[in-house]
Amino acid sequence: MIVKTSPDEFQDFIRDASNFTGNCSAVYIPQTPDEIPALLTGANEKGIPVTISGGGTGITGGRCPNEGIVLSTGHLNKIITIDNIQGIARVQAGVILHDLQCALDQQGLFYPPDPTETNCCIGGTIATNASGARSFLYGPTRRFVKELSVILPDGTPVTLKRGERTASPGTLILPRAGGTMQIPIPEIAYPAVKNAAGYYLHYGMDAIDLFIGAEGTLGVITEAVLGVLPRPQCLISCVAFFPDSNSALEFIDFARQSGNSVNNIEETTLQPRALEFFDEHSLNFLRTDFPNIPETARAAVWFEQEATSDTEESLLDLWMDLIITTNGLADDTWYAADAAAMQDIHTFRHAISAKVNEFVTSRGLRKIGTDTAVPHRNFAGYYHQITELAAEAGLYYVAYGHFGDFHVHLNFLPKNTGELEVAQALYDKICMLAVSMGGTISAEHGVGKAKKHLFHKMYGPGAIAQMQIVKSILDPANILNRGNLF
Ligand SMILES: Cc1cc2nc3c(=O)[nH]c(=O)nc-3n(C[C@H](O)[C@H](O)[C@H](O)COP(=O)(O)OP(=O)(O)OC[C@H]3O[C@@H](n4cnc5c(N)ncnc54)[C@H](O)[C@@H]3O)c2cc1C
Repeated sequence: MIVKTSPDEFQDFIRDASNFTGNCSAVYIPQTPDEIPALLTGANEKGIPVTISGGGTGITGGRCPNEGIVLSTGHLNKIITIDNIQGIARVQAGVILHDLQCALDQQGLFYPPDPTETNCCIGGTIATNASGARSFLYGPTRRFVKELSVILPDGTPVTLKRGERTASPGTLILPRAGGTMQIPIPEIAYPAVKNAAGYYLHYGMDAIDLFIGAEGTLGVITEAVLGVLPRPQCLISCVAFFPDSNSALEFIDFARQSGNSVNNIEETTLQPRALEFFDEHSLNFLRTDFPNIPETARAAVWFEQEATSDTEESLLDLWMDLIITTNGLADDTWYAADAAAMQDIHTFRHAISAKVNEFVTSRGLRKIGTDTAVPHRNFAGYYHQITELAAEAGLYYVAYGHFGDFHVHLNFLPKNTGELEVAQALYDKICMLAVSMGGTISAEHGVGKAKKHLFHKMYGPGAIAQMQIVKSILDPANILNRGNLF
């Protein structure tokens, strides 16, 4: 175990990509998972909080400690096996997503979850049930987690294989030092949208699902078996530009409906795996770095679709038809004809999120950006209302995100602490507006420390108390990721 006790050595471990900053007394870096149980047992005995650190790309302060010690998974970074036949990869929690993607690519495979920033660790993506552009077709991380090795807060190691340990139906039994523990599973009213806020608690649920998206509050994930898929033969990846946002939203609606109506994966019809929107402010914010953004463009949509060499051309024609029908700037469309151009489009998508984080960090501020999703029926009204609210407040912002999933990142770009305060108040209002429309305060980033107050308002005291009971049974001394969620 490597231990860093000098603040100079551990500065990188106490903040995350949102510029949320915490403090700790030391950072512990186990070389093998076997070193973790004793660390947790000792922390329990002494009542020392332990905060788990992955890649630090989170944007809710989840891995930033308030106090105590940090447990970094940075050296648990082995890709143990990739099994082409079974379509699985066994990895340690500290494996960087980018490294896994490269290793899979060499074997003609890919891992669908792709949360834009690939410097994250697999453990962090599981702890946050991360999504990303491809989640439009494939859903979030949860769907691809087949097995987890977890060290519970009392130091007990457990291995959970999907399908082997389920609640019956309202109680889940897990091992604990010297016996078992019974966890009551309440029925919580979750919003019917993509949602990453709070524990996954459902009657008859699989035990593995309790730890996915629990933001490290219930156990340390050390190893995972992930489902992987054959890499598609061809991939259509384009950015279509539009003269106004309504045309871009109409394009997304048509493409989504087409995707939903597909019964057969082989059908030659539009079936996007990603549908990502950029508003006018986002394009303006990116113009210096991407001078090829067309001058007349006021909105854009990045879409991807998997294809075969037989279907690629006809699918591309269908996409171009849709761009023309919805008033798009067809001649200005970026089409990725090779791997390098495809990477350029990914860089473009990554740049908008990364530049927002850089903007706030360079001013010593904290990121204030929504991660809200609302049901389809309310999305257009919600989007127009929140952009009007931001404009009325006189705040500069960029709005983009996973609009295929009715999921929007409206990020404020405050110039000073005064504007930051106005943005914070408006952010809270926008989040609660999503909740009032049947949506969520977090569709993919999680709650962490930054959104606790909204998380509690979203579910109300009854459901929060039920989630807290689960936490207190697994972690009675509240040592693990203290300050996240509760
Ligand atoms: C530019 C940019 C774009 C992004 N885009 C997306 C996106 O499209 N979709 C999306 O979902 N997210 C996105 N994110 C957020 C982020 O990448 C994800 O939340 C990621 O899953 C976090 O992984 P990490 O390893 O960096 O975790 P960290 O930031 O280190 O930690 C995140 C949380 O997970 C916990 N944790 C970490 N490892 C473990 C473990 N082994 N066991 C238990 N708990 C653990 C931490 O304690 C913390 O609470 C983006 C971030 C950036 C900077």
